[in-house]
Amino acid sequence: MALIDPRNRLIDYLRVSVTDRCNLACTYCKPRGRITVLPHGEILRYEEIHRLVSVSASLGISHVRITGGEPLVRRGILPFIASLRDIAGIEDISVTTNGVLLEEMASGLRDAGIARLNISLDSLDPKRFAGITGSDAWHKVWRGIEAAERCGFDPIKINMVPVKGVNDDEVVAFARLTVDRRIHVRFIEFMPIGANDRWHTDSCVPAGEIRKAIEKVFGPLEAADHGKGAGPSQNYRIPGGQGVIGFIAPITKHFCESCRRLRLTADGKIRPCLLSDTEIDIKSPLRGGCNDAELERLLRVALEIKPERHYVTESPGGCTARTMSRIGG
Ligand code: SAM
Repeated sequence: MALIDPRNRLIDYLRVSVTDRCNLACTYCKPRGRITVLPHGEILRYEEIHRLVSVSASLGISHVRITGGEPLVRRGILPFIASLRDIAGIEDISVTTNGVLLEEMASGLRDAGIARLNISLDSLDPKRFAGITGSDAWHKVWRGIEAAERCGFDPIKINMVPVKGVNDDEVVAFARLTVDRRIHVRFIEFMPIGANDRWHTDSCVPAGEIRKAIEKVFGPLEAADHGKGAGPSQNYRIPGGQGVIGFIAPITKHFCESCRRLRLTADGKIRPCLLSDTEIDIKSPLRGGCNDAELERLLRVALEIKPERHYVTESPGGCTARTMSRIGG
């Protein structure tokens, strides 16, 4: 069974947000003072998510990424992740985390069946990290990354969002991490998400500029294997380096024609495109006692309405209504 959308894209990847809560409040993701969290009753229960993942898998979804908010703050997350392994058709489960709880949870994540981790980190400077996230947890995150290395996660991907004038002067330092560690550092262009008054065209640092800054120091990068789970990342290596440098350029070089994703928000909406607010409510039918055939139908509708591409570059200033913390990054 395969899910093919009307543009002939194979959809096999579901990003599942398990919570809109987060233990950080990054200025560009969850603007402080402006975000309230959803009441527990509005968040899908684990059994509900499990059922939706099972139905999705029966249609052709094979890769699930657990995200949030911060997924590791939700109680019972490890047994829930382990329970997804039993779903026929699910071949790959990965997690995206800010790393704050990783020091204590890395080995539990391994035991739950997670082999690959994405860790978000926007600064290597603890003070600047505090400015961006509102938290002094930098050292804790770093210990979490080291714990993940010790537990054998491979690869460990560190995702960094460079924002002009905020942390873009650190791209070379991040790239340097790949010289003698097997870490993948991926630079993700800043996107207009969440009615964000911090986003304007100039605040997004184009991937091409980041690459130039890195090559100025290390010389030309070598193309690297795309590898499992690379998705839209264009991967390179510093010659002789252990790790990988990836560029994800949704703004300057969108990859919508090869998008394989659907998203499930924590409050039970199927969101076919990160950058479009069109969603399908799945929670009401789930709670109204619908059968699996109805869930299948709704998933297929999500495919029908998945936009051909995003149009954010044509409508500068037009941000999504939901913040990233509410969508699931
Ligand atoms: N808490 C988890 C984490 O930190 O990885 C998962 C959720 S977080 C929303 C996922 C990712 O979205 C983070 O790497 C964050 O930097 C990224 N993100 C949030 N807002 C963004 C934006 N406007 N543009 C690009 N990336 C963004």
